[in-house]
Amino acid sequence: MDKPLVLYGAGGNLTKAYKKFAEEGRLPVCICDSNASKIDTTICIDGKFPPLKILQLDNIGKLYQNAEFFVTPKPPARFEIMQNLIDSGIPKEKIINYEPFIKGLHCEYLKNELIYTGETLDICCADSAYDVKIPQVRIAEGMNYEDMVTAIHSMRKKTLYDLSSNKGCCINCPKLEEGYYPVTNSLKKFTFAEIFHCQFRCIYCNARLLPTSQLPYKQRKDTTKKALEFAKYLKSVQIINKDTIIVFVNGEISINPLLHEITKVFMDYPCLFLTNAEVYSNEIAKILDKGRSYINVSLDSGTAETFEKIKGKSCFDKVCENIKRYSMHGKVSLKYILLEDINDNEEDISKFLIFAKDINASVSLSRDYSNDHTKAYVKNQKTLAAIDYFKNTCSQEKIHFHFDSYFN
Ligand code: SF4
Ligand code: SF4
Repeated sequence: MDKPLVLYGAGGNLTKAYKKFAEEGRLPVCICDSNASKIDTTICIDGKFPPLKILQLDNIGKLYQNAEFFVTPKPPARFEIMQNLIDSGIPKEKIINYEPFIKGLHCEYLKNELIYTGETLDICCADSAYDVKIPQVRIAEGMNYEDMVTAIHSMRKKTLYDLSSNKGCCINCPKLEEGYYPVTNSLKKFTFAEIFHCQFRCIYCNARLLPTSQLPYKQRKDTTKKALEFAKYLKSVQIINKDTIIVFVNGEISINPLLHEITKVFMDYPCLFLTNAEVYSNEIAKILDKGRSYINVSLDSGTAETFEKIKGKSCFDKVCENIKRYSMHGKVSLKYILLEDINDNEEDISKFLIFAKDINASVSLSRDYSNDHTKAYVKNQKTLAAIDYFKNTCSQEKIHFHFDSYFN
């Protein structure tokens, strides 16, 4: 017979968890919560299931011996609750959705992300935004896939060990935060970076400065091939799982000769294509049709003149037309990299936002990371005013807005 089931957390995910167990024919005996104002109140899921009382943890032990807990909130709150349950004497075997986690100084990238650059396997690209050295493995001659995975594990382990003693390469990174993090081998994000050439010459593009940019065409094609073979290996050992987001950056994916093969391998995965959208790709549109993927275009302008100044190409209308076509297949996100005295003006910003609204795209604001890090912080009054104008217009026009992850 099933042990008494307690759902911990009377918040947003309660209904979903309740229904999951109800479908399995296992109804909870009560809800547990730490919020004093909810204790001893009753809750009736969807108004049709039997009412359930919300109890505090101490009472559950007395009323339901041997109870099993399902913690409803998402991480990191989930891990904090699990830690509290364990500290209160509940063994982890009695927490149905227990998964290993750690508490400490950490960042969202350290455990979850991997960037294949051709020469290295990187954890993040924080070095493009801050004055830090990122955790990284250099791909040495003769290294096979197992060696690469072992090297990544050791590098992560060492970084975490160093952090626990307040030292190591990450220590001055603004992204570090004290918190709860999952301990998992699978990746949240795998990025193909700097793997092929691009027909644009954006004034801020640091991809052109990387060593692989100088490689001849064939060698670059081989780099893509190697990245793809490595990704397939990570898939076979479950480090890439069905929810891992596959990202394509630093090189134009729509003109990559291996695009057909890439899209075949990752058709059912959530993919993020950073594209300049000069070339419309039916292969990318097909993935967007699946509903899990999206494209991100740094349009950076609202007028053809500014676009040409920034991108080094005169094809604003064509790019907008292609973005519009993609938006009929799936989600589009448009980026605006703010450049002092180039696009920090109301005309470009307002036209950019009108276009975004028209195709129901979300927008993000970023800054130029190719400059000296200290110079790149936005200090100029005109540019600061442009940020305000951008944000306020988004909020008035109800356009989904965020700053990019390394924006200061
Ligand atoms: S702490 Fe900073 S440098 Fe270290 S992995 Fe996270 S983002 Fe990268
Ligand atoms: S479109 Fe992207 S990859 Fe190409 S030059 Fe511009 S920023 Fe670099």
